[in-house]
Amino acid sequence: MPDAFRPNPFRLAFGLMRLPKNPDGSIDIPQVAEMADRFIAAGGTYFDTAFVYDGGDSEKAFKAAVADRHPREAYTLATKLNAAMGATDAKSARQEFDISLERTGAGYFDYYLLHALQRTTYQKYDEYGIWDYVKELKAKGLIRHWGFSFHADPDLLEELLDKHPDAEFVQLQINYADWENPGVASRRNWEICRRRGKPVMIMEPVKGGILADPIPTVREVFDASGEDVSYASWALRFAAGLEGVHAVLSGMSNLAQMDDNLKTMKDFRPLDEREMELIHRAQKALDEDKSIPCTACHYCTKGCPMEIPIPEIFNVINRRKGSPEFRTVREYGIVTAGRGKASDCVSCGQCERACPQGLKIISFLRQCKTELEK
Ligand code: SF4
Ligand code: SF4
Repeated sequence: MPDAFRPNPFRLAFGLMRLPKNPDGSIDIPQVAEMADRFIAAGGTYFDTAFVYDGGDSEKAFKAAVADRHPREAYTLATKLNAAMGATDAKSARQEFDISLERTGAGYFDYYLLHALQRTTYQKYDEYGIWDYVKELKAKGLIRHWGFSFHADPDLLEELLDKHPDAEFVQLQINYADWENPGVASRRNWEICRRRGKPVMIMEPVKGGILADPIPTVREVFDASGEDVSYASWALRFAAGLEGVHAVLSGMSNLAQMDDNLKTMKDFRPLDEREMELIHRAQKALDEDKSIPCTACHYCTKGCPMEIPIPEIFNVINRRKGSPEFRTVREYGIVTAGRGKASDCVSCGQCERACPQGLKIISFLRQCKTELEK
């Protein structure tokens, strides 16, 4: 039996994937420190980063903002080993652990994850012996619990849990927009974890910010409720109200988002029947929407030979509705200045193999080319 997790009654976790940036692109450490202080003061303990976030700067920011400023018992830390994006062989994959330990200054990890398992990447974790490696690390006391984050179909989740029944938890993409989305399968993957008694860490509860600033038809649904709360709060409450959830990771990017999330979770109340009805209506509005469901994680851009800013281009096309055409064209010019355009895509497929959302990026770029490069 795995050791018991440290209780996390607050449920909200501070995700360090989309940290605030300075104009030069570096992470705004003073703001992250202030966000972390408010999070801890409100009762939060769980921080989540990864070896590959911001090329390692996320883990370093954690050290500067949290580990160097708070006692070890004030926080729990999750980080992740990425055998597909960050490593080229077994040795470099295993070295990620030592590098993460040094970057974060945490001394040990409370939660250590095999990162972003999907149909195109999970084989690397077998090839490099990472499933055994995390158990070695646990036996040495360098990690407390191990699990994996997952972006694929229920059949693969069942297969992985059959092969590795001692995985202590699973991190899943769960939000009300993806609950029945066959490409993400939030509900079905969550049900598998419930059936097998695996605690769930939730990622993307606001779908990379999409549900914090939703499309007009979704806004109308929540505005009609008459409640003076943020759109993000509906999404957080949906995720945090699910059974078997240990932590809900919100990738906050500024103090205002931190304050709003803390307000939602401080006196947490699950959605009642009337509020769930609003969620169902919002889901219907999203089903009817034709936006590209990109979460702006940037996993696709790292290896693009044409340096195409894929998520920024998708954001421009998603926002074009209701905007004058000249503004859309100007925004497209800004995001592609000095970088590749949609028409530069050579269809190599690298981005589609990396995309955890399984998006048909090449086809979407063709659509962007047609609509934005007239
Ligand atoms: S398919 Fe196109 S967008 Fe994707 S990595 Fe290749 S060139 Fe870049
Ligand atoms: S296209 Fe996919 S990989 Fe790229 S930013 Fe969007 S969700 Fe992430």
